[in-house]
Amino acid sequence: MKSMVTDYLDEVLEDVRPGDRGAPASYIPELANVDPERFGVSLATIDGKVYGSGDTETEFTIQSIAKPFVYALALEDRGFRDVLKRVSVEPSGEAFNEVSLDEEGRPLNPMINAGALTTHSLVGGDDWTQGQRLQRIIDGLSAFAGRRLQVDERVCGSELDHAHRNLSIAHMLRSYDIFPQDPRVIVEGYTRSCSLLVSTRDLAIMAATLANKGINPITGEKVVSGRVVRQVLSVMTTCGMYDAAGDWVTQVGIPAKSGVAGGLIGALPGQIGVATFSPRLDEHGNSVRGVRLFERMSRDMGIHLMEVPPSVQTVIRNTTVLVQDLTDDEKSQGVKPQKIKVYSIQGSLRFAGAEKIVREFSSTTIKEPAVALDLTDVHALDGVARRMILEVARRLTLDGKRVYLIDPADVIPKPDPGDGGQVIVVQDRAELRAHQPEKRKKGKKGKSAKKGKKK
Ligand code: GLN
Repeated sequence: MKSMVTDYLDEVLEDVRPGDRGAPASYIPELANVDPERFGVSLATIDGKVYGSGDTETEFTIQSIAKPFVYALALEDRGFRDVLKRVSVEPSGEAFNEVSLDEEGRPLNPMINAGALTTHSLVGGDDWTQGQRLQRIIDGLSAFAGRRLQVDERVCGSELDHAHRNLSIAHMLRSYDIFPQDPRVIVEGYTRSCSLLVSTRDLAIMAATLANKGINPITGEKVVSGRVVRQVLSVMTTCGMYDAAGDWVTQVGIPAKSGVAGGLIGALPGQIGVATFSPRLDEHGNSVRGVRLFERMSRDMGIHLMEVPPSVQTVIRNTTVLVQDLTDDEKSQGVKPQKIKVYSIQGSLRFAGAEKIVREFSSTTIKEPAVALDLTDVHALDGVARRMILEVARRLTLDGKRVYLIDPADVIPKPDPGDGGQVIVVQDRAELRAHQPEKRKKGKKGKSAKKGKKK
């Protein structure tokens, strides 16, 4: 079967193609020479499948799309404190090349040129040469793309011949002691990083690496930490589209970054990276067809960040009462079998899902001496949901119940309910039935994860 995803991309590309609004950037003379009709889109999933339509192999310079990735490297190399001291994270509502600083004398954000020149200067260490810094940036961006990226010397030279605005910004930054290096050296390095050649395929993988918490979905390399990615995606959401950021967030609703060569990326955390290429730009310096394509895809594909599927309505699928097995000895001694109330939990749990479980236990009185939470159908749960479930277990222990987790997939590894809580982990209901509680134990037992004070 041919994938409908490819058919869909072919279709939207043709729907969005008509019209010739906008023009390729001309302040970098070499960029004005491109074929304005080039048009392509690539989509990469976080498990490494790449789809595409149109000019997906055509190379163009990355330009400002380098900014979020260089910001990520600066955060990784210097830590948050040092970087935030020099570059703020406030949307500027200004053009990308505005000569501006905030009240504390910092560039407003790392997505405009003033901020990007600064983050460029922060990559690596204080004692690094410019050559080392540039190598780190090329290596870092190549790791995001999963292949070696090269500088387009013609575009780079062409931009440097006319880099008066960036030089003026860099001199201003130097005069405010934002960085200690020679402003001309920083502008040159920054311009080289803007001149790296990429295709939409490369950019989609770079965006998917951001969507995948910093792990390149093709090479498996962890390029930056999850914490850094969260910071970068947040700033892309509010500042990635310059003075069109508000329109973008409402209409498209995913973290994004554009470049003046006509590239545009969007990263949807936990799902996909998307990249488009079309050189005609609007008044903000964003690709006209790229923006239209993303608007259309956002509507069709439901990728707006504010449109999240509701968490599972039924978190507790059902409850049953199981009777524990007795040994022959116990049967002959007339020991009464114990009952266990089993709650089957389902779905992927975050706060709202876990709260449903908490609510159920706070509003019912359980007669049985033992309770089991069956997590067999829980695919994922975040840290908050995990803590809430363990707290339920702890409180049940304090109420005198024996608590089991049926957790074959280890969704709560090494469960520790803490202070006074105790849980017994079993693999399935058969093991649960066969488990011998402490007081009638005869050598056989389940994995007891935490011994707490017995009530
Ligand atoms: N190299 C370009 C510049 O500094 C990048 C700008 C952009 O892509 N928005 O002007």
